[in-house]
Amino acid sequence: MTQAVSIRVRGQVQGVGFRPFVWQLAREFGLRGRVWNDPEGVGIEASGARLEEFVAAISARAPKLARVDAVEVLKFFGELPQGFEIAESLGKGAETRVTPDAATCPDCAAEIRGAGRRKGYAFTNCTHCGPRFTILRGLPYDRAQTTMAAFPMCPDCRAEYGDPSDRRFHAQPVACPACGPRLWLEVAGREVHGDPVALAVERLRAGEVLAVKGIGGFHLACDAGSAAAVALLRDRKRRPSKPLALMGQEAALARVAVLSEADQALVRDPAAPIVLVPSRGVLPEGVAPGMGQLGVMLPYTPLHHLLLDAFGGVLVMTSGNLSGEPQVVDNDEARAKLSDFADAFLMHDRDIARRLDDSVERADPPMILRRARGRVPGTLPLPKGFGGAPQVLALGGQMKGAICLVKNGQALLGHHLGDLDDALCAEEFGKAVADYSALFDHRAERVAVDAHPGYRATMVGREMGLPVAEVFHHHAHLASCLAENGWPLDGGPVAGIVLDGTGLGPDGTIWGGELLLGDYLEVERRGWLRPAPLPGGDRAAREPWRNALVRLDQAGLSGWADELFADLPREVLRQAVAKGINAPMSSSTGRLFDGFAAMLGICGEAQSYEGEAAMRLEAIAAGEGSLRFAVDGGVIDPAPIWGEVRAELAQGVLAAELAWRFHAGLAEAFATLARGLVQEGEAKAVVLSGGCFQNALLHRLTLEALGDAPFMVHRVTPANDGGLALGQAMIAAARALRGAESD
Ligand code: ZN
Ligand code: ZN
Ligand code: FE
Repeated sequence: MTQAVSIRVRGQVQGVGFRPFVWQLAREFGLRGRVWNDPEGVGIEASGARLEEFVAAISARAPKLARVDAVEVLKFFGELPQGFEIAESLGKGAETRVTPDAATCPDCAAEIRGAGRRKGYAFTNCTHCGPRFTILRGLPYDRAQTTMAAFPMCPDCRAEYGDPSDRRFHAQPVACPACGPRLWLEVAGREVHGDPVALAVERLRAGEVLAVKGIGGFHLACDAGSAAAVALLRDRKRRPSKPLALMGQEAALARVAVLSEADQALVRDPAAPIVLVPSRGVLPEGVAPGMGQLGVMLPYTPLHHLLLDAFGGVLVMTSGNLSGEPQVVDNDEARAKLSDFADAFLMHDRDIARRLDDSVERADPPMILRRARGRVPGTLPLPKGFGGAPQVLALGGQMKGAICLVKNGQALLGHHLGDLDDALCAEEFGKAVADYSALFDHRAERVAVDAHPGYRATMVGREMGLPVAEVFHHHAHLASCLAENGWPLDGGPVAGIVLDGTGLGPDGTIWGGELLLGDYLEVERRGWLRPAPLPGGDRAAREPWRNALVRLDQAGLSGWADELFADLPREVLRQAVAKGINAPMSSSTGRLFDGFAAMLGICGEAQSYEGEAAMRLEAIAAGEGSLRFAVDGGVIDPAPIWGEVRAELAQGVLAAELAWRFHAGLAEAFATLARGLVQEGEAKAVVLSGGCFQNALLHRLTLEALGDAPFMVHRVTPANDGGLALGQAMIAAARALRGAESD
């Protein structure tokens, strides 16, 4: 007897070609019935002899962009149609889910290299690939609400769009040369006649810098193999040493970098992030000065494929923006702002609705350093206990802006918005709040902000007229890691090692090297790096030697500081420190790294971008053993190691070895204290958070030093301030829930 079932599929199953996939499966297994979208996901009613195989295939063979969380099967007794049909979407909210932009799929990549009507067509896409969030103007997600609305489909494209057996069924950005966007090469405001890709490649080979319009913004491109081209780009962009991202086909990347299996899997991910991988050292030093690693990505649009196929090598593909400003997205804006940088523009006429930088990630240990294109708007389910959470809007930190929305048991962490000190980034921040709120029909009942009164996001939050939850910076870091790992609201206290550059602590000083004990609701400080002054305030973050000076003075090694920094204004700083003028106390780990780097002669006088000294230190580290920090009560004091460092340098011990031992010593000091809290039963697990844990070596050595203590780390949200808003949102939600309980 044939039976009938009703099937509920939950997860990321809308806007990813799931209904046509189910339709095709049903035909394959000879079933009758229907499939539809609704607010809970995808619903199916079906009957036939091969139902079991069908149900198994739903998760086993799901489309690449789908994520199936659950397939629930119940008996069904209603009427079914003769064939199998795709039914109308049911209920409001069915279309509100938007998936992230996805890299060109293998079928589309093959199609543009083939002989069909999309041969060489730079805007080819299908249900399994192409732009989504970056072309979306509003919901529901259909063509009229995207920047593809300007391109009416030709009959051929319309036929594909309407055919459930075609891989372009309901692919909103479907296009072809007859009806879709157009590509051209432009020099000094004039279109150059000829094949734009061939013209672009000719110029790249000649060492020129090109502005290339992508899906989330413009890139600046040049030949990564040419030291002169790289130097030209750096000179024009006034970017002396910050590493430049690279793009190449896999074979080309393999010639310049070492990609492990995990790296290969990550570069091939539909998100196509920039992946940090070990360099083979064959590219010019100027690509990533002082780094042992390169940031590489695969071509992720058909335009990139055409360009890289024709070019053959590896291109620098760095954000097209003025220093500190957001990436340029608009054609006229590009002409106005990038003309000084670029010799020519590879442009197209599809608008970018939403600016998204490339995401930056690492495969081992897995981490996200910048969360943007391909990763947003992804959601995280809230952990157990947060079910009744109100709608919260969290506004994040200052340097790596990102917001977070909580609604319906989900947390949505928005994309990287840049440094809010910059006026345009701040404007972008305001837009993002309005944009995400509108897209997800979010009505904030409370707002969560960093406790630092000077942060722009904090000021904006306080003006919103909503109840405000003020959250201390390092508590937010800890909570974001808990949330990512699904730690329940009543999961009990954990030991959080939170290491970063700067954040206001409850005692009014600047924190950044902390061992916290607590949960979503409360934390106490159980350990910290011995504070040192930050002479000159913000300047201490730009000039590593300042941090070396105060640490050496603290340790009674002023004489060594005088030798190391003989030409620098030491006495002025010492007097300022003695009088307490613009020299706030801080337990910052970032500044400790800076100071140590300066002692080894790395970026002593100045670093040209945030984290440069620490990244160079990590890059050279090699060896074994550790430098022993003094631990007294909860205070971790580096003072005793400086004398040892000085003596060993004098004996000819390499900076590389000392760098390794510094990382290991710091990791051991914090891990030992954290482990102690677990062993004494005060903490249930150890959490690692804060920007310093993007340092892969520190990350690894800390986990090693933790031994068998249970731990949680960031994998899908940034450990840096880009993940802060998630923690703020969770803390605000926890407070609201506790408040409701005690009422
Ligand atoms: Zn495709
Ligand atoms: Zn067409
Ligand atoms: Fe931080």
